[in-house]
Amino acid sequence: MITRRLFIGSGVAASFVLPAHAVPQMRAVQPLVILDPGHGGKDPGAIGVSGTYEKHIALAAALELQRQLRAAGKMRVELTRSTDVFIPLPERVGIAQRKGAALFVSMHADALTDHSVRGASVYTLGDHATDSQTALLATRENSADRFAVGGIGSTSPDVARILASLVREETRAGSARMAQQMVGSLAQDTRLLQNPSRQAGFMVLKAADIPSVLVEMGFMSNPQDEASLRQGAHRAKVAGAMKRAIESYFAALPNA
Ligand code: ZN
Repeated sequence: MITRRLFIGSGVAASFVLPAHAVPQMRAVQPLVILDPGHGGKDPGAIGVSGTYEKHIALAAALELQRQLRAAGKMRVELTRSTDVFIPLPERVGIAQRKGAALFVSMHADALTDHSVRGASVYTLGDHATDSQTALLATRENSADRFAVGGIGSTSPDVARILASLVREETRAGSARMAQQMVGSLAQDTRLLQNPSRQAGFMVLKAADIPSVLVEMGFMSNPQDEASLRQGAHRAKVAGAMKRAIESYFAALPNA
């Protein structure tokens, strides 16, 4: 029971009692996950061997993952884009920061020069690329900003290195844990790339304060991956695996 004093008219106070259930409780705010469907608008992303645009696959998969996560009701979920629009890479990070995201997940299905390479893989920010394939992927991914008017093309490698070194260790550790969960979960339901957890200087992962991962759900350059990703049932399976990983990540946080 909580006693409140109510002022009536000209300063006449009356005491009354409210039953506890009538007092609005401070509801714990659920963590916010930002899903970032890659590319969009004038930037189609990779174009599959049979002509599928990566931007459409990325958006369809992100909408499915948002639907699944929201249905479970454990967290808030928003997208950087929910339509076919172009958003520059720094703006994607900016959206997550302005909204106070607890986790940022960028979703892609890029192309590689080797069309035989297939399977899902997960990327975190690193000063040095773990391998040449990932370095190429990051370069191509970061070049999405060639579509931006007055983009950030002038960022020098030195500045990029300094920015990367400013990334807080905590954020890095969170990103690494998320990547580990993601790989473990995807492995249960989908084919994975060899060494599926990789690092490189992905611009879209450079929020210093938000654990961030980039998931390549497969490669549009591989005919089987492209055919799978065109199917809603396959995207739902991939989204389901990503959902489990995201839920496990939050469940393992100390204050969860
Ligand atoms: Zn992409």
